[in-house]
Amino acid sequence: MITYKSTRGGTETKNSAQAIIQGIAANKGLFVPDSMPKLAMKLEDMKDMTYQEIAFLVLAGFLSDYTSEELKACIDEAYDEKFEAKEIAPVVKAGGAYFLELYHGRTAAFKDMALSILPHLLTTALKKEKEDKKIVILTATSGDTGKAALSGFANVKNTEIIVFYPSEGVSQVQEKQMTSQEGVNTHVYAIKGNFDDAQTAVKKIFADASFAQELLAKGYKLSSANSINIGRLVPQIAYFIYAYAKLIQRGAIKAGEPINVVVPTGNFGNILAAYYAKLIGLPVHRFICASNKNKILTDFINTGIYDARRDFYVTNSPSMDILISSNLERLLYHLSGNQGTEVQGLMEALEKNHHYEASDQIKDGLKEFYGGFADEKATNEAIGELYQSDHYLMDTHTAVAYSVYKSYREASGDQTVSVIASTASAYKFANSVAPAIGLGHEDDEFAYIEKIHEKTGVQIPSGLKNLKDKEVRHRGVIEKDQLLQAVRDSLRSRH
Ligand SMILES: *Cc1c(COP(=O)(O)O)cnc(C)c1O
Repeated sequence: MITYKSTRGGTETKNSAQAIIQGIAANKGLFVPDSMPKLAMKLEDMKDMTYQEIAFLVLAGFLSDYTSEELKACIDEAYDEKFEAKEIAPVVKAGGAYFLELYHGRTAAFKDMALSILPHLLTTALKKEKEDKKIVILTATSGDTGKAALSGFANVKNTEIIVFYPSEGVSQVQEKQMTSQEGVNTHVYAIKGNFDDAQTAVKKIFADASFAQELLAKGYKLSSANSINIGRLVPQIAYFIYAYAKLIQRGAIKAGEPINVVVPTGNFGNILAAYYAKLIGLPVHRFICASNKNKILTDFINTGIYDARRDFYVTNSPSMDILISSNLERLLYHLSGNQGTEVQGLMEALEKNHHYEASDQIKDGLKEFYGGFADEKATNEAIGELYQSDHYLMDTHTAVAYSVYKSYREASGDQTVSVIASTASAYKFANSVAPAIGLGHEDDEFAYIEKIHEKTGVQIPSGLKNLKDKEVRHRGVIEKDQLLQAVRDSLRSRH
């Protein structure tokens, strides 16, 4: 059986159900598998399999304490007609690359891939572990996780979901998606600060033992829907395997041929899932880690020095406006050869001094990664160019990835077949996408949606269609040191 340990060392060991319930390790580390399961089938034999079948193979490997029946039930409830593409994650060729479209779920961003299944994995875990407490999901969001978590957990029995988003720095569409969320157990707050402030404050609550006691006395336990939760990371591994199988199916690659994976990166969850896919058997040549102007990861990959002493920019790819990239901690752990004490030291340095330098062994491991970034100008140009040449419409995040992919190809001459993670519908960031494809000024983001539709004919995701007229149900705006109080208020309102 695969068990889970903390990236920061220690003896805490959990099965996957326990790790999913708890979210984060007791010493503030992240849960990592103690060994990597190997794919139970050859990649070439997967080429005709459905998304659900491939997801099952991956989940069964990592969540080995769940029964097959439990996993199949979770998968069937998650990946159904909620997705507006029957393949769930279509692979589309454009601009010489293959776009893995991960945004056809309810909230039109890739977070749905994992957050459609996490509530089912969690409620199953509660039953398996005979947990009698109610679970309070605390979530910091840079825009997309919030809505995907709210919609996944809305009205799920024995859970409360509380989301904190930065008041400045999410798109109008993202904000309205969250503030209009229905469901008796949903709570949403804007915090005066940026995503890092929100994530740091949430992590602090997780580490607050006396608050945990206070909640326990009221019958509550905290958990997380951020990609620090292993229950969110594992489902994301599946779509990289799926993409590979579909490339074999259409004859784009031969089984065993390495591919490059290009990922627009913020909290390092999506690209870490690709790395895990390699560890269980996916042939990957290079992981191309694409950043926006907040290019801390580009610098880290190039130098081995992680330095957060820099300005924070609000960009037109807000879901990647992050300086403290949580899941990098997991990569450090694996590259260091599972040295928990070493990772603990690096994370303490980051907290205290806001920078650290990785060991030579970690730097060596980083050579599998290529780090690049695209500023807003390059991002908008990429959207315009690919629409012109191929009539393929990208959102701003995907465009960051495509732009970095192009510069990588030019600089390296590497012709390896590449899969680009396409992380959101262009309509979610309509006010940036519209001018990039030559449309004029509109007064609000919702008008841009109509205009883009008229010009491109690309289907508007159903969750965004009537968003404009939806009633606002959440209006809380708080200071960045008031999260604890907000959690208390949210839970009190439920008694
Ligand atoms: C969250 C998000 C990202 C970044 O993904 P990470 O897993 O945090 O690296 C990129 N694009 C979009 C649209 C997102 O919502």
